[in-house]
Amino acid sequence: MFEKPEHIGIAVQNLEQANALFAKLLGKAHYKIEAVVSEHVLTSFFQVGETKIELLEGTSEESPIRKFIEKKGQGIHHIAFEVADIEAEMQRLAAEGFVLLNEKPKRGADNKLICFLHPKSTAGVLIELCQEIREA
Ligand code: ZN
Repeated sequence: MFEKPEHIGIAVQNLEQANALFAKLLGKAHYKIEAVVSEHVLTSFFQVGETKIELLEGTSEESPIRKFIEKKGQGIHHIAFEVADIEAEMQRLAAEGFVLLNEKPKRGADNKLICFLHPKSTAGVLIELCQEIREA
């Protein structure tokens, strides 16, 4: 079961310019910038009520964000939902026939374990599951 929309990911060409644009749009500044080296992205987060906007800029040619922008231009890249138990949700969704892009949860930005679902199994929408990393 999904708990709530956690954030909306937006692919941008230039994070610095997009940060300024979204600060003007939302009326507040981003609260963090974080590089996710394994994903070749630089991210920036804005808190908007209970949810967040995540801006993503690709940092290398291999970056999925660069490839996305080449194909589709800037825009909404994914919707992330918070789940309480990511491994249980991955099992449930796989059993329902959804295609998982990750075999195991991986570390994402903002202290999360994440997993993506292939958009071909979700009406063209890239879905991210995320679970807060709880320090034991
Ligand atoms: Zn995300």
